Amino acid sequence: MPAALDELIRKAGVVGAGGAGFPTHVKVQAKVDTVLVNGASCEPLLASDIVLMEHEAASMLHGLVRVLDHTGAARGIVCVKGKHRGAVAELRRAVAVDDRLTFFELGDFYPAGDEHVLVNEVLGRTVPEAGLPLQVGVLVANVESLCNIDRAAAGLPVTHRFLTVAGEVRTPLVLRVPVGTPVGDIIALAGGATVRAFRIIDGGPMMGRVLADSDQPVTKTTSGILVLPDDHNVVRAKVMDPEKLRRFTQTVCCQCTMCTDLCPRYLLGHSLHPHKLMRGFGTQLLTGEIAREALLCSECGICEKYACPMLLSPREINAQIKQELRAKGIRWQPGNAPMQLRALRQERKIPTSRLLERLGLAAYHSHPAYDTREVRPSRVILRLQQHIGAPAVPVVARGEIVTTGDLIGDIPGQALGARIHASIDGRVTSVTETAITIESTNRGLPCP
Ligand code: SF4
Ligand code: SF4
Repeated sequence: MPAALDELIRKAGVVGAGGAGFPTHVKVQAKVDTVLVNGASCEPLLASDIVLMEHEAASMLHGLVRVLDHTGAARGIVCVKGKHRGAVAELRRAVAVDDRLTFFELGDFYPAGDEHVLVNEVLGRTVPEAGLPLQVGVLVANVESLCNIDRAAAGLPVTHRFLTVAGEVRTPLVLRVPVGTPVGDIIALAGGATVRAFRIIDGGPMMGRVLADSDQPVTKTTSGILVLPDDHNVVRAKVMDPEKLRRFTQTVCCQCTMCTDLCPRYLLGHSLHPHKLMRGFGTQLLTGEIAREALLCSECGICEKYACPMLLSPREINAQIKQELRAKGIRWQPGNAPMQLRALRQERKIPTSRLLERLGLAAYHSHPAYDTREVRPSRVILRLQQHIGAPAVPVVARGEIVTTGDLIGDIPGQALGARIHASIDGRVTSVTETAITIESTNRGLPCP
């Protein structure tokens, strides 16, 4: 009897490629009525999902059909912004292969790809506060994850990742690279940085994080490498010292409520009022009831990068409060009152073009070309934790020769986790508690 899809996905190490890396074999065990393909490609400047939908639509839809069959869902809806004319044309044609598949054209706003926003936009359903789409019968799947499911069904593990290289690089592009490739190699493939002093962001300008250096590796969740001048506002906001931010908040917040008025989760009817959190935080009179609201924050960054006239960061303050609450084991307790969409929600959606202007990123290329070169780094560093759950446990030792696709890290026992596979042919040169390094044996074909 052939293995069940969730077992094939587990063996292949598939995780959510667009978010925090939730193990996909667990997600597909749910029973739902609808699967939404999240093709919103929400983060400004990131385009790898669009490129995948233009070039790998058949693989993505094979993955989607397998998920429909496995979860019992009656329909799969591919959701893409109408502005991506190439992907829209390709997908409108492609969904005709199965009458369970349809297409939904999204507006061009941020954050259209937030799961709560997407489910409401497409189906009119409201995901509970701090809840999951599964609670309203919906599984939201990332484009690349579906391609990886298609490959997993054929016995192929996750070894590569599509990503965008954007910002201050000579040739912005979309590439398919081995997981674990150092980001410095990838920037070199894009012709190198065009400014002397720069910082590298793993992900997009809104939710990405600044990397310590160019030796950091690509992971299964790296959707983009963004190179920006080190004095760019986007970088400054991300590297601000948390203590300095606390002091600023205490003295500068004018309680204008703009952060709440434009918060996408507040506009969906959630009990999240970032201005109240900021007031409580600033006056050091934060009550438990208000503090708990931070647990509802998606960290989308609208309040920090678009709404606040004083350049404060409710997002960062919420992240700090969330961390403290979670450390104490405090969870969100839903109320009894039904959630209601706020008035003016439609009018308060943030157009991506205006967001790009506000971020100071409008001059950068937002849909770079797909570069089909085969990327062969001389070395990969494979983190043992590239996903939500327990880190993988190494199953190789230093000195071993491995081939692309070999299992090198396994899920510990019955824990939530994901397997890790060799992404190049080579020799294992280091095994630590956090990562496995492989040096290539394909001498003469390194990255530039
Ligand atoms: S937008 Fe800024 S200044 Fe206004 S209430 Fe929010 S944090 Fe305070
Ligand atoms: S980051 Fe700000 S705007 Fe986004 S959900 Fe959190 S509080 Fe709302």
